[in-house]
Amino acid sequence: MFADVSFPISSFQVFSYKIPDQLVNSIFVGSTVNAPLGKRIVSGIIVNCYTKKKFNGKIKEIKSLVDGKPVLDDNLWKLISWLSAYYNTPIGLAAKAVIPSQLSTNYEPKKQSFAKVTAFKNETIIKGEIQLKIFNFLKSQDSLVPISELKTFSANPSAVCKSLQSKGLIKIIEKPVIPNIYNMSLESLPKKISLTSEQQKSISKVCSSLDKNSFDPFLLHGVTGSGKTEVFIEAAKHAIKQGKSVVVLLPEISTTPQIAGRFRSVFGDSVAVWHSKLSNSSRAWIWKKICEGEFKIIVGARSAIFTPLKNLGLIIVDEEQENAYKQTSSSPKYHAKEVSLMRGKINDATVILSSATPSIESYYNYKSKKFKYLELPKRYGEAKLPHVHLVDMIAENKETDNYNTIFSKIMLEKISDRIQKNEQVILMHNRRGFAPILRCDDCGEISKCPHCLLSLTFHKTNNVLKCHFCNYAKPPANKCSHCSSFNARLSGTGTQKIEDELSKIFPDVKIDRLDLDAAPTANKIFSTLNKFSKNEINILVGTQMIAKGLDFANATLVGIINADTGLFLPDFRSGEKVFQLIYQAAGRAGRGTIPGEVIVQTYNSENEIIKDAVNFDLVGYYEKCLKERSDLNYPPYSWLVRLEIRGTNKNDVIRAIDDLNKKIPSLPNGIEKLGPSPCYREKLKDHYRMQIVLKSNKKYDTTGSIVHNLYKKAINNIHFRKSNARSKLIIDVNPISLL
Ligand code: ADP
Ligand code: ZN
Ligand code: ZN
Repeated sequence: MFADVSFPISSFQVFSYKIPDQLVNSIFVGSTVNAPLGKRIVSGIIVNCYTKKKFNGKIKEIKSLVDGKPVLDDNLWKLISWLSAYYNTPIGLAAKAVIPSQLSTNYEPKKQSFAKVTAFKNETIIKGEIQLKIFNFLKSQDSLVPISELKTFSANPSAVCKSLQSKGLIKIIEKPVIPNIYNMSLESLPKKISLTSEQQKSISKVCSSLDKNSFDPFLLHGVTGSGKTEVFIEAAKHAIKQGKSVVVLLPEISTTPQIAGRFRSVFGDSVAVWHSKLSNSSRAWIWKKICEGEFKIIVGARSAIFTPLKNLGLIIVDEEQENAYKQTSSSPKYHAKEVSLMRGKINDATVILSSATPSIESYYNYKSKKFKYLELPKRYGEAKLPHVHLVDMIAENKETDNYNTIFSKIMLEKISDRIQKNEQVILMHNRRGFAPILRCDDCGEISKCPHCLLSLTFHKTNNVLKCHFCNYAKPPANKCSHCSSFNARLSGTGTQKIEDELSKIFPDVKIDRLDLDAAPTANKIFSTLNKFSKNEINILVGTQMIAKGLDFANATLVGIINADTGLFLPDFRSGEKVFQLIYQAAGRAGRGTIPGEVIVQTYNSENEIIKDAVNFDLVGYYEKCLKERSDLNYPPYSWLVRLEIRGTNKNDVIRAIDDLNKKIPSLPNGIEKLGPSPCYREKLKDHYRMQIVLKSNKKYDTTGSIVHNLYKKAINNIHFRKSNARSKLIIDVNPISLL
């Protein structure tokens, strides 16, 4: 028997091997195997098995199976094939997204040795003081004692124990150490729930879809605080009763403890989490147990959509509008929402896309009846939507004759009022660091990253200028690099500056900050949120990290320092993103019994997006936005494919993009081509970037096949000249941004 193997490399080529006789019965399409590739042994996936050798000459043999058991069922295999075709990624790389390397059902947790006394007398045969001490200690313990804990008695307790064992006094027992499957403390307070009639209505629609066992996508549109989580839980109960399993996707690790905790309080040990901050051993253990069918519910980040759950019947995508669902760094550049819909289709599963602020695409899909609609229009219980004050900062600045204000008068009044009442405040500002710009006062030169050509952000905590795209950092120079002037000035505001200024204004108030710098690890994020929930922090300052999903009853005031951040980025989605962020952040206020308030500061108080967001007029904004998208032929009215050339030599990049452009000489009806042109961020991490964007109107190209064929043909024919080999082609299907 022979087989073709695809490896996780950037080439679409597959490689042929002989299957050794002893493996003939255990290798199938979809098995992962180790095989020689060049001089290395690499693990890849079997894409084809056949009996007749395809060519004459020597053929190498597959070395071994990675996994004794087949992990990929037919459905996951179909998903991998779809990933590969849809995102134009070699099948080996698509498979690697589904089965990350290092994971195998053969995984065994590390063993730990324990000691236990078996004979209580015979102490006379014990030699020496250390042996006696250890023996006496073990005698005094009721349970098994880990030998590693005996280090206080001896530098080498395991040798001492072995000797005691050989005398028949104790027994050494080896037990596997089960890795911690959560790596975080979950709040799992059981709650008394009496479902509202709206929740009930949504739940029964989802349950009857589950009963039909056919693919059914829903958009669950519930205002912030309407109890979407309870709908998830009831739907999951129904799926579990039917013997199905469930995936719940969350965009931010910060909401995992709350939501996974709610699930665990209902479903107990059948819940596992899956995210990037798990330790290797935890990850390996959870994966093995999923394969063995022990976990029925996975709550996790985007890659959780690939976990090999058996009989997956319900997929929930919470905060479905979030960009974090898109894999942007490596191939396949998949979107977990698109994958959820496809996996749901393959599995005949029910898919719930949930949000208070759906993406424009999902809203459109519901309007055009592709998705069924579930609505929770009111907050749960007494909680009302908060009252919002929009502050015109231009007028405020004029009035106070101060053009450097961070906090408006009303913002400070309201903060101090809430603090006095022992309520809590959340201040959102979507920019980390102290100040985003350091500019020379004399010549205007801005300190930029040498690798990215973008402005460096000043971080006061460690006195560096830092690039937020490549992490390059340097101390601020005391002299302008352009004109040697000593007059440099920081401009703009980041979260550090807000925290700094606040602590001057409110010296006795407990202020903390939650952003990538203050909380780089999952544990730090959780401990800060935990402190906030216990009222140990009065004011929490943070980036978009704190804008979504969190539920704190005592947080009654939300301040948005600058609602305009991102408003003028030249991207077709920038308005949508700003709207969602303001609406969501405002939704953190007043989720308990005390009414909430929101202060939104802006320099664009007449801007429609900002006005609609602070009025919670979602339909108003979405309809306007759809009209604009339709006029300009952007999604959801068109398919987008972004073809980027990236390389260290600018001329090579220009030549390569021209080559590519020539391969797309004429355009079918309904397809537009933007570019070639430099990307908005034209240099990142020392790589120049140019792009061509293809826009294909869905009226002409319903399934997207026309634009897919067009670009695939173009790139198949591309022969980079030798000097171009350093330039790389990046294909982004349905990009989330064109920057
Ligand atoms: P959302 O995710 O829609 O913003 P949550 O699911 O976090 O809202 O619900 C908001 C709050 O209301 C939570 O504290 C939740 O436990 C509570 N809640 C929602 N529905 C119910 C219910 N039927 N019975 C009791 N508490 C509920
Ligand atoms: Zn200068
Ligand atoms: Zn940089």
